[in-house]
Amino acid sequence: MEKREERYRGKAKTVYGTDDPKFVIMHYRDDVSAFDGAKLAKLEQKGETNNRFNAYVMGRLAGAGIRTHFVRMLNDRESLVKAMRMLPVECVVRNVVAGSMAKRYGLEEGMRLPEPLFEFFLKSDALHDPLVNDDHIRILGWATADEIAQMKALTHRVNAVLRPMFSDAGIDLVDYKLEFGHPLDDPYGPIVLGDEFTPDGCRLWDAQSAEKMDKDRFRRDLGNVIGKYREVATRIGVPLD
Ligand code: UDP
Repeated sequence: MEKREERYRGKAKTVYGTDDPKFVIMHYRDDVSAFDGAKLAKLEQKGETNNRFNAYVMGRLAGAGIRTHFVRMLNDRESLVKAMRMLPVECVVRNVVAGSMAKRYGLEEGMRLPEPLFEFFLKSDALHDPLVNDDHIRILGWATADEIAQMKALTHRVNAVLRPMFSDAGIDLVDYKLEFGHPLDDPYGPIVLGDEFTPDGCRLWDAQSAEKMDKDRFRRDLGNVIGKYREVATRIGVPLD
């Protein structure tokens, strides 16, 4: 597979074309961002850590029969994935109250929810990713009713795989964000998990000490961000080198 032109530069990853239009390369940079890009930094070893973390998690999800865009890791910082048309919404599942949900409803962080709670957000840094419901998404044409149902079902299935995977390692999966789309070579087929699953897009708390082991370390200036990402990786069995 030959690497071609830069297609898209996100806040932490760059996407490159390949000689096959069905595939693109995701390059994980050392950049980290928070608050819709208002806080930026570079963290040594972040790119390779997240590339390996994501490859491992995508493999576990594929093993559980969940369709993902991931094909294979190419090198330390790059993975080959299916080229996708992404749906413009973010899917969040929460097992424990934290972050924007705690703030929005005046709840205490750390409250365990009696069942996983699903939320949709519109993907828009300029609008600060507003919370939206099924009607907004369907009536405004961001996704169809069928795509909405598939995103919810798949996000819950991911939770059923990842929550026990982390809890077996003594880590609480508090919440996480997923993004879905259609592979370019199957535009009308079932939706597929895209983007990434890394500590950048989820909350992970040590089950004993409640220590934060995710991007909140960067958001809240707690230090040792990548050290903790790598500790999580080691505890769940990600081969880091
Ligand atoms: N999240 C994300 N990207 C976003 C918004 C949220 O990866 O643009 C993740 C975030 O890391 C957390 C979960 O989704 O694990 C829920 O985030 P929340 O709505 O609480 O927002 P935040 O507190 O991160 O602003």
